[in-house]
Amino acid sequence: MHKTPEAVLLPGSADDVAKTIQWTASRGGKFAPQGQRHSTFGRSLVPRGIVADMSTLRSVGPAEGDRVVVEAGAVWSDVLRATLAQGKTPPVLTEYLELSVGGTLIVGGVGGTTSTYGVQSDNVIDLEIVTGEGKKVTCSASNNADLFNAVRAGLGQVGVITKATLKLLAAPESVRRFLLFYADLATMLRDVRVLATDNRFDVVQGAIVAAPSGGLAFRLDAVKNFDGDQPDDDVLLAGLSDDPAQRQPTTIEYFEYLNRFAAFEAALRANGQWFFPHPWLMTFIGDSQVESVVNAELDALNPATDLGPFGQVVLAPIRRSAISSPLLRMPADDLCYAFNFVRMPTTNDASEAARLVAANKAAYERVNAAGGTLYPVSAFPMSKAEWRDHFGSSFDQLDVAKQQYDPDKILTPGYEIF
Ligand SMILES: Cc1cc2nc3c(=O)[nH]c(=O)nc-3n(C[C@H](O)[C@H](O)[C@H](O)COP(=O)(O)OP(=O)(O)OC[C@H]3O[C@@H](n4cnc5c(N)ncnc54)[C@H](O)[C@@H]3O)c2cc1C
Repeated sequence: MHKTPEAVLLPGSADDVAKTIQWTASRGGKFAPQGQRHSTFGRSLVPRGIVADMSTLRSVGPAEGDRVVVEAGAVWSDVLRATLAQGKTPPVLTEYLELSVGGTLIVGGVGGTTSTYGVQSDNVIDLEIVTGEGKKVTCSASNNADLFNAVRAGLGQVGVITKATLKLLAAPESVRRFLLFYADLATMLRDVRVLATDNRFDVVQGAIVAAPSGGLAFRLDAVKNFDGDQPDDDVLLAGLSDDPAQRQPTTIEYFEYLNRFAAFEAALRANGQWFFPHPWLMTFIGDSQVESVVNAELDALNPATDLGPFGQVVLAPIRRSAISSPLLRMPADDLCYAFNFVRMPTTNDASEAARLVAANKAAYERVNAAGGTLYPVSAFPMSKAEWRDHFGSSFDQLDVAKQQYDPDKILTPGYEIF
């Protein structure tokens, strides 16, 4: 999607953001911050308004004890590099580290450890915000909690994040990683349910990918962090029902593991596919419905055209109790799954992108009818009424905060919620 703003702000400080929002408000205009502009479907765009390139505000740290203060335009790879220098890591990191802190905190930020630690926006100690009235305000769970709860996973509707204090944990040196392959979805899900509760691994993520021999392959990616001696493979894999002949174990450094998407990005940039439209669909589905919903979607899927050779369907377990950001909508089940269509089309064709956007909407409606919810970084249009349904009982909280902190509805119009 292409929309042209009137001007781009390169802020040198939070005060620059505040003054520009005040000026925009005085002209009756709109304003949106942009992190790395990876969101699809025009969510960070403002036709005939002002966008702020937040990448000019990207200082990080240093880490101090269990926390680090970062500017919102910093990318997670910079945060991780800086904190690892002090033996620390954010508890949750997205699959791709070149996303901005502000850009993921306003959607939530799902990563491999979300089942244990929640989303990235659950791991924030406090935030500095510029509101839609151009006021600089700090907030946390105990200070301006209404703003704190409306900003985290609140789709940028009430404020621009300029600074965040992030929680940190001790970082492991290395990971023991296994790719495990299954004959079918039911067998993979049986193991997922065991692994999601016994905590023998630090990360468990499922994927359904095109098999080299044709058809679909069901794959678990299971990771154990460690320092010093490598953990015992037999203990880690005891009782699992994958095909032992296909197991792929590796040992790699913690940073290298987390930065694994970088090589994939380089390959896609080299062959041009990085620059094609990527209409992804990201949802959450509860354990009680997962098998029937996923099987129905897979029956209708043409992997070659709907995913592309490098695409995949993600199916990653998440314990709902780990999530605390009030605006992130999850299914009712204790065990849920991130159920995502990571489409990597091999064409730049606009009609093909439009077909996949329509397919996203239809698939979302089926997932939603089965009690599933939307992770709102997906590419398809949502009406105001659909957003209201999406937020459900939390909509009033967002609406009240919008009226208080952005009464003229200046901020981040690309989601089309208000
Ligand atoms: C290759 C790839 C991999 C991904 N992997 C994951 C993943 O593992 N987990 C996951 O959860 N998501 C993932 N995403 C989705 C991603 O988290 C969201 O699209 C995110 O919003 C993009 O961050 P960005 O810095 O590019 O933000 P942008 O696209 O620039 O902005 C996204 C939205 O945030 C708003 N915004 C940006 N900065 C701020 C700020 N400082 N304050 C307030 N609002 C702001 C913008 O206005 C816009 O509405 C992935 C996306 C891509 C392209």
